[in-house]
Parts: sequence; structure tokens; C-alpha cells
Amino acid sequence: MAHTEQTQLGCNRCGEPTLHTCVIRPMNHTPHLIVSLLLCGFWLPVWILLAMVHNPRSDPWRCSRCGQAAGTHTPEQEWELAVCRAEENVQQSIHDAERLAIRAEQRFTRVKRRAARRHRRRNSLSLFVKSVPGRVDFALRKIAGEENDIIYHFLRVSIVVAGAASIFGVAYLLTLVISKALT
Ligand SMILES: [Zn+2]
Repeated sequence: MAHTEQTQLGCNRCGEPTLHTCVIRPMNHTPHLIVSLLLCGFWLPVWILLAMVHNPRSDPWRCSRCGQAAGTHTPEQEWELAVCRAEENVQQSIHDAERLAIRAEQRFTRVKRRAARRHRRRNSLSLFVKSVPGRVDFALRKIAGEENDIIYHFLRVSIVVAGAASIFGVAYLLTLVISKALT
């Protein structure tokens, strides 16, 4: 019937190669033979199936000194392994968080740079608009000539009047168009 085999294997508890034993449990065919005879062979398929799934080496190799199954760890070792795995997970989480932070910072820098560019563009436009009166003034002085203040002032007044008139004209035209569209 059942017998044992022996071999030298590394034991996790003893920390060195020790003599390991394994209980070999061959299938007991006698009861199956009796039942098959009693049932006129109707038990044969069940017997064959059971014989096919039976594993005589289902028991693990065990250390003959401490009884620890080969390839398994002591509770202390399991605990240490779990701690190691947890530490690795924490390290991985920190690494992931750092990478996310770097990416967020890069995105923030990009957005900031884009906003600065937009701001510069708007500033340059407003600078240009602010410089228009100066340019017009310069042109008027050139047209009027260096010494001719009266013509220069006259040109300035006429430009203001023309500007106001054109604004009023546009407003008047707009009201005309809107009133036409509404009626
Ligand atoms: Zn052992």
C-alpha cells in the first residue's frame, strides 16, 4: 500500500538542504474489483475514471527534520514577503505620483507660456493703438512744416472734427439700417 520516498531538498525553515520524504499513495483497486463483480461490471466506468484522476503523489515533499512542505514558506517568511511586496507597491505608487506631478508641471508651464505669448500679443496691439496719435501728430507736423503752427493746429482740429463726424455718420447709418430692418 502507501509507502514513502526520500530525497535531499532545500528546506525554507531549516535554511539548508535536508532529507525530505513524500508519502506515495497508490490506488487501492480491491474494493473497486469487488463492487464491479457484484454489479456485473457496471462499476467499471467509475473505476476507470477514478483510476485516471487518482494521483499517488498528491502529498507534498516534507522536511524530515521540521515537517515544512518543500517550496513553501514559514509564517515569518510569508510575513516578510508580504512586507516586501507592500514596500514595492508603495515605491511604485510614489514613482507614479512623481511622474504625474512632473507631467502636470509640464502642462502648467506650457499653459503659462501660451498665456504669456497671448498677453504679449495683446500688449503689442494696444501699444500700436496707443502710438497712433503720436504717429498722426508726427505726420501732421511734417505736412504743416516745421515752423507753421497755425496750419498744424488747424489740421489737428480738422482731424478731430472729421473723426467725430465719421463716428456720428457711422452711428447714424447704423441706426438707419437697424430701423429699416425692424420695419
Ligand atoms: Zn526543515
